[in-house]
Amino acid sequence: MAEKQVSGTTDGKPIRCRAAVARAPGEPLVIEEVMVAPPKAHEVRIKIICTSLCYSDITFWKMKDPPGSFPRIFGHEAIGMVESVGDSVDEVTEGDIVIPQFLAQCRECAVCTSNKSNLCAKFPFEMSLWMHRDGTSRFTDLKGQTLHHFLFISAFSEYTVVDITHITKLDAEIPPNRACLLSCGVSTGVGAAWRAANVDEDSTVAIFGLGVIGLAVAEGARLRGAKQIIGVDTNTQKYEIGKTFGITDFVNPTNCQDKSLAEVINEMTDGGADYCFECVGLTNLMHEAFACCRKGWGKTIVLGVEKPGTQLSLNSLVILHSGKTLMGSLFGGFKPKTDIPVLAKSYMDRELQLDDFVTHEMKFDDINRAFNLLMEGKCLRCVIWMDK
Ligand SMILES: [Zn+2]
Ligand SMILES: [Zn+2]
Repeated sequence: MAEKQVSGTTDGKPIRCRAAVARAPGEPLVIEEVMVAPPKAHEVRIKIICTSLCYSDITFWKMKDPPGSFPRIFGHEAIGMVESVGDSVDEVTEGDIVIPQFLAQCRECAVCTSNKSNLCAKFPFEMSLWMHRDGTSRFTDLKGQTLHHFLFISAFSEYTVVDITHITKLDAEIPPNRACLLSCGVSTGVGAAWRAANVDEDSTVAIFGLGVIGLAVAEGARLRGAKQIIGVDTNTQKYEIGKTFGITDFVNPTNCQDKSLAEVINEMTDGGADYCFECVGLTNLMHEAFACCRKGWGKTIVLGVEKPGTQLSLNSLVILHSGKTLMGSLFGGFKPKTDIPVLAKSYMDRELQLDDFVTHEMKFDDINRAFNLLMEGKCLRCVIWMDK
């Protein structure tokens, strides 16, 4: 193993920097100084370059009951530069550009060494408040109070500590305000089309919810040559935006008159869509999606985050007789370290569209404005620059 470099002035010491701390559910984040401990073994401390706001940040920021928890540093879509590394880290070094991601890839376990799934068995996904290995935090405020992590990333801080299994090194010269989108939402949507569903040419696709994940599903389906991509959203303006990403047809569920949403889509697709994607996180939409995926081979992929503990109820005879598949997918089935660089290259080769996802950019001090824009449905992705 290479001897660890001790070159920076901050290496091995705590860093005092600014972070946007969530002190209470639904209350504006407070930008304050925090202490970020040095990385332990298998960990990397990152200087965040920019971060973008994803809807899961808002979902958990509003959450009063567990797994909601405060005080906490949110943020999980980002790009940064390695400031220092802990012992036993060989994969990246100081100055490397990296993307953190909520899903681990240890490269060693039975899952990581197979191509069947991206759900690492050694470091399984959970809604933890802590670092993955030792169950402690690297953040304290200036009074010494512990601050919780979010999705193993906590990017709303100028510096953060992330386990090496949650980091992807980037070599492509991709602009940071595009690359950060690959950290969560866009990868999840494109992956759902390419990996989880494996959308094929000339197929029919229905997408429930045209936020960033839904639009990224459309983009993935478009690149795969799907012939009909139906967008479903209560906001009719999403049709125009969606066309950029390959949406060919649009349904506003509030305008279905006496028909159910599933009936409308079954008619439009002459018997059901080959692939349905639920991107909102509502059980009734999951039911509608399953009801309008094609009998015999239709697949419904759940990407939306419902309230913890919510149950789906399906008719057992429909399951038996329909031959349909219902599956969930985290990160679209992509293995982060393997697939994020592929997506970055696809953008640089002018295939994958990322530019139109970025509707706003702002400085760190304005982060609460970004929350408002996303909640009001006025923005797809807002990129927050830490230094500007
Ligand atoms: Zn693994
Ligand atoms: Zn996310």
